[in-house]
Amino acid sequence: MGANAKYETLSDIVRKGLNLGVQCGCGNVAVIDAARMERWYMCHMWDKRLHMLRDHLYCLRCGGRPREIRLRPSGQVPTAPNRFPVTEEQWVRVIRGLRS
Ligand SMILES: [Zn+2]
Repeated sequence: MGANAKYETLSDIVRKGLNLGVQCGCGNVAVIDAARMERWYMCHMWDKRLHMLRDHLYCLRCGGRPREIRLRPSGQVPTAPNRFPVTEEQWVRVIRGLRS
């Protein structure tokens, strides 16, 4: 996968203020809010290394795994429907749910 060598994990990207551009083999492209995604991955204790991210992503059009993950400036607004919790209360519920 051709991720920029300067960035190893999702956290590196968030720190730089970048988002993730994801492209599927079917041609569907989405930009994902990297900050929310990082928190989501942390909650689930998933691997946040860039080449591992695709294991937990799927295409909303065809259901396949993304073929390519690219870095995008955060100025590029996320296009993917927000599947992550929005409020603190929702986050707490996710974390509690995972612990029980
Ligand atoms: Zn697809």
